[in-house]
Amino acid sequence: MTADKDGWTLSLVIPVMNEVEAVEPFLSAIDATLRDVAPRLEILFIDDGSTDGTAEALTAASERDQRVRWLRLTRNFGKEAAMSAGIDHAIGDAVVPMDVDLQDPPELIHEFVHKWRNEGYDMVYGVRGSRHEDTRRKRTSAGLFYSFFNRLSTTTIPSNAGDYRLIDRRIVEALRQLPERSRFMKGLFSWPGYRSVGVYYDRPARQVGNSKFNFWKLWNFALDGLVSFSTWPLRVWSYIGGVVALLSFFYIVILLTKVMIFGSQVPGYASLMTAILFFGGMQLISVGVLGEYISRLFIEAKQRPLYLIEHDSGADRKPLPQARPAVKVDIS
Ligand code: UDP
Ligand code: MG
Repeated sequence: MTADKDGWTLSLVIPVMNEVEAVEPFLSAIDATLRDVAPRLEILFIDDGSTDGTAEALTAASERDQRVRWLRLTRNFGKEAAMSAGIDHAIGDAVVPMDVDLQDPPELIHEFVHKWRNEGYDMVYGVRGSRHEDTRRKRTSAGLFYSFFNRLSTTTIPSNAGDYRLIDRRIVEALRQLPERSRFMKGLFSWPGYRSVGVYYDRPARQVGNSKFNFWKLWNFALDGLVSFSTWPLRVWSYIGGVVALLSFFYIVILLTKVMIFGSQVPGYASLMTAILFFGGMQLISVGVLGEYISRLFIEAKQRPLYLIEHDSGADRKPLPQARPAVKVDIS
């Protein structure tokens, strides 16, 4: 928790990509619900390479409203990188990453803040209650992913918690120390530890615009998460290899005994073919898994920056306005 309890700042971090129609409704919703959630509010948008006039909408908003600040990345770096840029640049004592499409209900932030300030939690994450807005396929695959991930990884992530959460400055500083290029944020948020708690909510459908994630993107996202947080897929092959070698040894003994007793038998095309194809497949899968890790090592080794910033509307910013008049203490 921050030492400066009275003058603290809350930062909302909102990655946006081609969301021109969503910016204004988002800001009105924030104004309607979060006007005095914190003494100072920073509304930090990260324009992740939009091509549709989002930048103009953000410029207008930041000129009109001093609490709004926006960063423009030089191109589309993806939501995870954009969110990292926002978390790196946010000035708040607590930071809330959220989507612009109002799928993350702003009023929940009151509860986040309450748990953070009054109950001493360092992270308060939103947990999607019913997920009825998702298709059944998405719900099942998400469920499978969480149980698979938590079984394989030493970092456990809470099921059905998205990026929508409040994180204390201590966690923000911890996140800034994690240099990796594969930013699986759900995992990274959990990695530092600290005290955390979930808050249930119903996630509404997107208000305007379309989802930027299709099945293929989500699959790659899941793969990225697993590979970044577990070495089990890499190590499992030693065990599979061990079991196969052991079984093969018994089979060799059986075969040799048979040949010695009954003499050589030529038929066996089917079993030979099955074995060749099966083990060929297994070998390719294991090489593929190696490839997943090596490609990530390759990306890490290059040490390229995670994102590039083209413009920061807050580069020469004045201090954030106070939401409520500061209480004057008379010390005379
Ligand atoms: N987003 C982004 N960069 C991308 C894709 C998405 O900054 O490459 C932003 C998007 O503008 C939105 C948020 O990430 O504010 C969540 O995206 P979306 O609503 O499409 O995801 P979903 O809710 O369908 O998972
Ligand atoms: Mg959305």
